[in-house]
This record gives sequence, C-alpha cells and structure tokens, in this order.
Amino acid sequence: MKTDLKKTVQLRKSTTAIHAGGFEHSLYGEVSVPIFQTSTFAFPSAADGAARFSGKQPGYIYSRLDNPTVNALEESVATLEGGFGAVATATGMAAVSSVYLSFLSRGDLVVAGSCIYGSSRVILESELIRYGVETTFVDSSDLSNIEKAMRPETKMVFVETPMNPSIKLTDLAGAAAIAKKYGALLAVDNTFASPYLQRPIEFGADIVIHSLTKFINGHADVIGGMVVTRDEERYDRVKKVASLFGNTMDPHQAWLILRGLRTLALRVDRAQENAMKLARFLESHPKVTWVSYPGLSSHPQHELAKRQMDGFGCMISFGVENGLEGGITLMNNVRLITLAVSLGGVESLIEHPASMTHASIPADERREAGIFDELVRLSVGCEDFEDLRNDLDQALNRIGEYEIRTPALQAEIDAFQEPGC
Ligand SMILES: *Cc1c(COP(=O)(O)O)cnc(C)c1O
Repeated sequence: MKTDLKKTVQLRKSTTAIHAGGFEHSLYGEVSVPIFQTSTFAFPSAADGAARFSGKQPGYIYSRLDNPTVNALEESVATLEGGFGAVATATGMAAVSSVYLSFLSRGDLVVAGSCIYGSSRVILESELIRYGVETTFVDSSDLSNIEKAMRPETKMVFVETPMNPSIKLTDLAGAAAIAKKYGALLAVDNTFASPYLQRPIEFGADIVIHSLTKFINGHADVIGGMVVTRDEERYDRVKKVASLFGNTMDPHQAWLILRGLRTLALRVDRAQENAMKLARFLESHPKVTWVSYPGLSSHPQHELAKRQMDGFGCMISFGVENGLEGGITLMNNVRLITLAVSLGGVESLIEHPASMTHASIPADERREAGIFDELVRLSVGCEDFEDLRNDLDQALNRIGEYEIRTPALQAEIDAFQEPGC
C-alpha cells in the first residue's frame, strides 16, 4: 500500500503511530480497522473483474495481492518511515528474502554487515551463492570497511543499526553516500531501532526492512515483516515479487500488529527510559566488565547516536565477570527477566549468545565475530525499573559464588559421593 502523506504529514510520530493507516471511509463509523478475513473479493461484473486485473479500476481481487486490513498496516508503517509505500510480509525473514529476490541477480555482489541477523546472513552465504550472488561481510560500524569492499558489480549494501549483539551503530548517512557513489541500493534492517527512533530513508536509504515481530508489534505474540521503499519503482518491484513468491501477510496477523503499533511510542518511551537507567546501573556493578548502550557517553558512537536516532533504544549488551561461566550463572538466576531470544516486547528478555544462540560456533570464530564469552544481551521492556534492577542485581551477585558443573565434573563429583567412598 502506498502512503497517503496528505493525511499525516503534519503530525508528530507518536500521533502518527496511533492514526496512520486508518480507513478513509468507515463502514459503520468503526474506530478500529476491521479484520477483512476473506481470501477473495467478488467482482460486480466480468468487465469490472477485467478492469481490476488490468489495473484500470481500483478494487480488491485476492488477499495474497491486497487486503484492506493488511493495507492499513502497510500504510501506517510506510508513513512512520517516511517511505513511498510498504509491503507487509508473513515474517521478518520474508521481508528480507523479498528484498534479496527483488533486487539481486546472477553476477551481482552484496556488501553486508557481518553482524546482520543470523538468518539474513545465512541466506546470503549459503543460498544466494547458489544463484551466483556473492557477498562480502564487513564490520559496518567503520565506514571505511564498507568503502573498501565496494566493487563495480556491488548492487546492494545491507546493514543494521544498532547491530546485534554488539549494539554498535552503522552511520546511515555515510553508508548511503558510499552506496550512491557505486550505484548500489542501501537496504537497512531497522528492527532494533523502530521507526519511532530512527528513519533510515531520511538519511538516504532506499529500502527499510522490519521484523514486525519485535518493537512494532511489541507483545511477543505475532510474527510479521515489512519492506518500506523510498520510491515508487522499488515499491512496485517488491510488491510484485512478494505477491508472486507468496511472501505476503494474512489479515488477522495484520490486525494484531496494527493493534500493537498503536502503542509503539508509549512502549518505546518507557522501555528506553528503563534501558538508560539500567545501563548506568550495570556500568557501576562490580560483576559487570563493560556495557554497550548508545545512550552512555562511554559508547564510542554516542555522538552518532545523537545525530541519527531520536532516542537511544531499548537494547543493551554487557560483559560479566567469569566469561562463559558468569553468563550461564546470570541466565540461570534471573527470576523476573525472561531467558529467551527475540526482543522488543513489553517484557524484558535476556540471552547469552555464547552459551545459547551462537554456542555451535567454535569459540575462536565466535570471538572474531565479536561474540565474546562474557557478552549478555538484554532487551529492556516496560516493567518497573526498580524490579528490573533488583532482579539483575541479585542474579549478577551469584556470579563467582559457585562453580558451574560441566557434565564431566558432575560425573566426578557423583562418583566421589557414592556410598562407601
Ligand atoms: C527477528 C529479526 C529478523 C527476522 O524476523 P522474523 O520475524 O523472526 O522472521 C530479521 N532481522 C532482525 C534484526 C531481527 O531481529
């Protein structure tokens, strides 16, 4: 769905999140967008059917192509991002793959951030390579790495900011300038910031991707994705590819996400206020070795964060004493904060990449990718700050209290305790 900027251009972001993408003409004066749970739409006549298919007449045909509820969500997100239009997809990965499939052909090169979302990286590394598309992965927090990797065949620069799990940033205006110089598209996965805090199109990005599963839906109960484009040509391309490949969204899913989106500003304001306070608390905690949060003046890209973000976000990573063992102790002792992957919900989630999501990668490769043994990632939610701080404090204080028993060590201890010993 294309944006109707006339309606919303004067409004602030928090108002836009609540009002963008409503219906121009409601059926019964309804305030909430209805769920149009229908797979297909009747044509008044054969001639109307033909006119709709040819694009001469507006109107719905079939829900894989367009659906009023899905269109309402698309218009909301496109308006928030300041894009020409948006295409909703079944998952965040369907959004990523729609972008790859829309703009990359055999012989093209991609320059991608080395810390992009795991599945986004795996598609490039082991799937697109089968179609003759090659990727160079670089640490995009340093623009010179992007510049050095660019070739005449580079068709796309694909980055995230803030990045996972280092919470380092990519300079969006700088990356856009490099991409432009080489005639490549800049695609930005804006999931970690949300459009409430950062709008990559304002800095020159051509394409913005979201996993709506995270901040935009915000309640850890729906999966979804979105592609927003700067211009009409790219919109038409993504719309065609996503519809053809069947990557599009279901109306019920769209309705749930629209309901979450309406409170985006409230949720993010509260969560990032908590995050700032928690980052300061963690910085002063004796069991914490370092903290990466763009709102701290110790963050090497604090000034960049102030330039390109409207707030410092809700994601923190930090290091704990005793490396792998310390991380495991923390995971096993939090009581309020949930031990789970994913992010962006009202509830705080914690994860330890070295022992969980990235445990299968050999330790030295992990370290090279910046996934240190002691690194813990926290997605800060909307709970009371005092409760979050107390929970982290009690769990952190358990670090070093006892030794983690590996299966081998446990077997030795069990053997020693056998009767008769
Ligand atoms: C979760 C996530 C994705 C994938 O989204 P799904 O909704 O799980 O398919 C892509 N990019 C980022 C940055 C994510 O956090």
